[in-house]
Amino acid sequence: MATLKLLMVGDSAVGKSSLLLRFTDDTFEPHLNPTIGVDFKVKRMMVDGNPVQLAIWDTAGQERFRTLTPSYYRGAQAVILVYDVTRKDTFTKLMTWLNELETYATRSNIVKMLVGNKIDKPDREINKTEGLQFARKHSMLFIETSAKTRDGVQCAFEEVVIKILQTP
Ligand code: GDP
Repeated sequence: MATLKLLMVGDSAVGKSSLLLRFTDDTFEPHLNPTIGVDFKVKRMMVDGNPVQLAIWDTAGQERFRTLTPSYYRGAQAVILVYDVTRKDTFTKLMTWLNELETYATRSNIVKMLVGNKIDKPDREINKTEGLQFARKHSMLFIETSAKTRDGVQCAFEEVVIKILQTP
């Protein structure tokens, strides 16, 4: 069984580790310690009848130093770029993350998914249309999620895998 390498990318505290833990362990911690983070999780799943193994990498707090290392990106089939729908600054920063990705990703056909997280919160600053428009403009898949309520989380990872399997 082939292992697919997926990366979680985006500003600090947008919920990258929480999305990963919700997906792999079905847990949520309201006060996740950012210094501990998660390095890496493996999960097997069936997608359209195919068994796949995902190795999903989390930044483990490195993103607070602004850039990730080139080795983080090496060999990745997909990147999940996360922003927080209640923090406009994390949406504004998306272009910086995309530029870094274009610089370091070794595959030209890398699958890109944009995720607007924390939709359970009432104080939204970025609406769904803005997220969708950004994603379309940059040829990305798009979904809104809540790691807290599970909304969209399973779907986000499944769509990424389906797209990887369709990509030559
Ligand atoms: P990371 O730095 O991007 O990995 O972000 P974390 O996963 O550490 O999350 C930062 C904080 O936001 C934590 O206190 C989480 O509990 C909280 N959080 C993450 N996702 C959600 C969500 O979907 N809804 C709400 N309400 N809080 C969230």
